[in-house]
Amino acid sequence: MACVTRMDYQYWNEKFEKMPRRELEAWQLERLRDVVGYSLRTPFYQKRLAEAGIAGPGDIKSLADIKRIPFTTKHDLRDGFPYGFLAIPKDEVIRLHASSGTTGAPTTIYFSRDDINRWTSFVARCIYGTGCTKTDVFQNMITYGLFTGGLGFHFGGEEVGMLVIPSGAGNTTRQFRLMQDFGTTVVHATPSFLLHVESKMKEEGVRRDSIKLKRAFAGAEPYSEDTRRRIEELLHIDVYNSYGLSEMNGPGVAFECQEKTGLHIWEDGYIVEIIDPETLEPVPEGERGELVLTILCREATPILRYRTRDLTGFVPGPCPCGRTHRRLRRITGRSDDMLIVNGVNVFPSQIEEVIMAMKEVGNNYLIEIEKDGVLDRLTVKTEVTAETFMDDTRPLNAIKEKIRRTLQASITINPRVELHESGSLPVSEGKAVRVRDRRPKDI
Ligand code: AMP
Ligand code: ZN
Repeated sequence: MACVTRMDYQYWNEKFEKMPRRELEAWQLERLRDVVGYSLRTPFYQKRLAEAGIAGPGDIKSLADIKRIPFTTKHDLRDGFPYGFLAIPKDEVIRLHASSGTTGAPTTIYFSRDDINRWTSFVARCIYGTGCTKTDVFQNMITYGLFTGGLGFHFGGEEVGMLVIPSGAGNTTRQFRLMQDFGTTVVHATPSFLLHVESKMKEEGVRRDSIKLKRAFAGAEPYSEDTRRRIEELLHIDVYNSYGLSEMNGPGVAFECQEKTGLHIWEDGYIVEIIDPETLEPVPEGERGELVLTILCREATPILRYRTRDLTGFVPGPCPCGRTHRRLRRITGRSDDMLIVNGVNVFPSQIEEVIMAMKEVGNNYLIEIEKDGVLDRLTVKTEVTAETFMDDTRPLNAIKEKIRRTLQASITINPRVELHESGSLPVSEGKAVRVRDRRPKDI
């Protein structure tokens, strides 16, 4: 049930949103040369581009020349920590963000004042395109802090002129109070939190007519069309899919317009490629593959041909809304083993690193993710060493608590920890199966 869709296709920046493809491509080529120029101020790309025979922006003669530039991976970003990708003097940097759930060397992105302004304008474009205006009251129910979803949407919402309530994630009772007290009309949250909000509403007896909610922006994790429909029907709102990643600024990379037929990816800010993750060659138009992005709208941390690991494809044909920027299909998963648990990124290797460093832990472990109601629950099952007596509960509880605390400090999620007798967890014959993702796959 689409509730408030007006289909009046509001443009935040009509010139850019409806730019003819040829002009858009000419703009991209100019910006690509700029970012190649910025990138050559960073130690990482000085070396990388020299190896690829690119001495300067002049070597990029057409958009097709992007293929001469090597891919950049998350691994490269980590290797470059802390300043290997910084292209401007440190005193020109006004903010940093870091990817969620990373441990050890995080991937850090720096922004100049102009970068923040450009990013804000992309997020404002997304918000405005769903029909929001300065009359709206926007409750940003997502984690603030190093995660980009908080401040990214906060600034975008202010730019549109909405009243922004920086409520942050969690605490549904307080979220309801804020909605009722200030007449919230639009929220931003993960889809799982929106489902949680709905069940809590019922539980706490919050009447639908006591809140004025009309729209929600939902992202940070994959979800299906069925889940979108379910949230829309349960909460009587319009839900728009929001896609972004911290390496590419955060939110504001791709977003649905009021047609809800794919996410417009802002090609004046990004060069988009979709490749086969095995062969690294472009997939035929319309097919699914791994999204590769080059950011054109940031000077402080240029990143060229970034392998996002996110799997998607282009929606063929133009969108009835008149925007000329291509649309991505719903992101369905990843080409690496990264898990997204309640919107937080976790690599199984992070968990392994933590538990294997603890002398109380035996040799085998298993990571399980299930749905607990609408939220995700992460359980880490570990074997104890052969010397540990399973019938002595006091030391066992202490070990469990120590593992839980150490893991939480590393992955920022509070896991359940189960201890198992040495040799009791299943051993697979071939490649070890360390992760059991039991969440329903409905995408
Ligand atoms: P982060 O860098 O912490 O913002 O995490 C970014 C990752 O979250 C992306 O690379 C995706 O894997 C995932 N993600 C973000 N938004 C969406 C979305 N709308 N649909 C599916 N996955 C998403
Ligand atoms: Zn559209």
